[in-house]
Amino acid sequence: MIPFPASTVLGYPRIGPRRELKRALEAYWDGRATIEELRRTGAELRAATWRRLDELGLGALPSNTFSCYDHVLDTAIMLGAVPERYRAATPEDTAFAMARGTDGVPPLRMTKWFDTNYHYIVPEIGPETVFRLDPAKPVGEVREARALGCETRPVLLGPVTFLLLSEGGSDLGRLDDVLGEYERLLGVLAGEGVAWVQFDEPAFVADRTAAEIAALRRAYERLGAVTRRPALFVASYFGGLGDALPALAATPVEAIGLDLVRGAPEGLGVLAGKTVVAGVVSGRDVWRTDRERALRALLAVREHAAQVVVSTSCSLLHVPYDVTREDGLDPAVRERLAFAEQKVAEVVELAAALPGAVTAPAPAVHAPAAPASVSGGGRSPYAVRAAAQAEALGLPPLPVTTIGSFPQTGELRAARAALASGELDEAAYEGLVRAEIERVIRLQERLGLDVLVHGEPERNDMVQYFAEHLEGFAVTRHGWVQSYGSRCTRPPILHGDVRRPAPITVRWTSYAQSLTAKPVKGMLTGPVTIVAWSFVRDDLPLREVVFQVADAVREEVRDLEAAGTAIVQVDEPALRELLPLRGQAERERYLEWAVAAYRRATSGAGDRTQIHTHLCYSDAESILAAVDALDADVTSVESARSHARLLAEPAVAGFGRGLGPGVYDIHSPRVPTEAEVEKSVRAALAVLPAERVWVNPDCGLKTRTYPQVEAALTTLVAVARRLRARL
Ligand code: GLN
Ligand code: ZN
Repeated sequence: MIPFPASTVLGYPRIGPRRELKRALEAYWDGRATIEELRRTGAELRAATWRRLDELGLGALPSNTFSCYDHVLDTAIMLGAVPERYRAATPEDTAFAMARGTDGVPPLRMTKWFDTNYHYIVPEIGPETVFRLDPAKPVGEVREARALGCETRPVLLGPVTFLLLSEGGSDLGRLDDVLGEYERLLGVLAGEGVAWVQFDEPAFVADRTAAEIAALRRAYERLGAVTRRPALFVASYFGGLGDALPALAATPVEAIGLDLVRGAPEGLGVLAGKTVVAGVVSGRDVWRTDRERALRALLAVREHAAQVVVSTSCSLLHVPYDVTREDGLDPAVRERLAFAEQKVAEVVELAAALPGAVTAPAPAVHAPAAPASVSGGGRSPYAVRAAAQAEALGLPPLPVTTIGSFPQTGELRAARAALASGELDEAAYEGLVRAEIERVIRLQERLGLDVLVHGEPERNDMVQYFAEHLEGFAVTRHGWVQSYGSRCTRPPILHGDVRRPAPITVRWTSYAQSLTAKPVKGMLTGPVTIVAWSFVRDDLPLREVVFQVADAVREEVRDLEAAGTAIVQVDEPALRELLPLRGQAERERYLEWAVAAYRRATSGAGDRTQIHTHLCYSDAESILAAVDALDADVTSVESARSHARLLAEPAVAGFGRGLGPGVYDIHSPRVPTEAEVEKSVRAALAVLPAERVWVNPDCGLKTRTYPQVEAALTTLVAVARRLRARL
């Protein structure tokens, strides 16, 4: 066996330092570029990454971490797990059909990758799925890197996690079939002269049954028994392996990867004889690594393992490329930061320091601060509020509304860029935003919606916009992180105490309301989501940080109300994202304070003010009790794309307030038919009393075009009116 080099990373960003992949994908989808041009961009990005990692002195380079859309999707395609309806002429087109749908064929479901803001496409596996390995992608990348003089370690999603994340695969009934293909893959890679392969099994940092852990062990016993194969490195991340660690250690795999940022270095006694790839540089935040802490963890592992490799805690996919490009940041903040390139340099430096390192005692840990006192809030029970709101608003049954944003036109984005560069003055920009608000209001009036929105044209992003108007945040210029497909976000950096110096949204909402007699919803982002989608200071308990943000949101809610806003929506699409992956008690504790923070943000509103909330991609069904406990008067949730799974939950019937299960999947360019929408609304009416059902899309409309939105909303209104007449 070829020894594992002293340093590595589990993966690297792939969207491109200047979002080259995003542009190439969108050009291809719009018919402005050929598949060859898209492929060339991909090849250039991969080459640039390998060269850069090599230049930085990284020991072992990963490959197959690139993807045109998503690595879980790539794994499904590699294994031949492609439902017939998506098969296309090229692997890319097959992937895009699965991820985005095609004419008349809705896409596969998409959901969050563990507790990150990255989304993967959920593979669909059935008894009819015929697994058939196509190793072209991983093999192609190995060869491509080799042509550049780089030996690489292909990174693949492991067979057990692949199935656990799949629709129809999570009972592991098809594990043996999938393992057959992975065995074949190992043979192919050995034939290519590959020394090490990485299989990611992050599913095992979450709570797993004994049967699932036994399946993990069986899988790697089988793969380990392949006679001609590369050395096996099984990576875990986003937490500790718990009981899965001894199970995995009992198999013949040569190396095991541990997240030592989130997982404690416990139970390491089982690692004798193994190479341990020690994740001590966080792939989940943007802070520089505490060198002493990292060395202590490495030394603790070295006592037990045959070899220690310094690594990142997970793929660097979740952080931006390079902090040195951020010349607009306050130097005092910037010097605390490390992005992907800087983290690679830290890994390399730690690997160099490790041989001579000695243990320094760990400093005493401070006891966590006492929990912030939480007031339930001053609002009356729902029934009282509902009556007051019915009187104040006078809405018809099955009211039609949207989630907030309307399409962001190129013109607006250009105007924002011009404002930032000084080419456009504040007054001219403001004029453009107002014109857009007016257009959105007129459109909604024309289409017959019942509760209008101003369309959020002034916002670049639902979190960044608030971060830019709150103290304690910094925003980057180039700090893009992939969210899904070509979509990226630029998470703000929450580095200090949060405070709202002045009202943020009131003037836009008031302007919109001045244009119409219909109610206009004020639109805010909730405290949990603002924190979840930011990189957050690590010197305060997360809960304290969320409460600081909640207080800022509370002030904004009160100012909106004082300005005459009758409905305020406080979005919490990330509520489930911060849910601890392991431990029922931990999850309950989290939900308790997260709900308390939301209520702190919203409970300053009076009874007549209708509070809405919105959750998306959040698998709301699994935290329905907590969603209910938010005590919002109306909750809209993603539903169209998860095939209304939410409505099948028995708990939905007991959900005591207004609910709008999304009936239009806004993540796809497809416009739903009236029949589809009607079926979805009827599904809601089958489990909820009509006076509590709302009709709305799954999420904001900002990624869609006006023609799509117009057609879809026309459909929603038509269906609502038809069903209303029959109530
Ligand atoms: N109000 C936001 C919008 O419509 C909500 C977006 C979200 O849930 N991700 O864009
Ligand atoms: Zn949403």
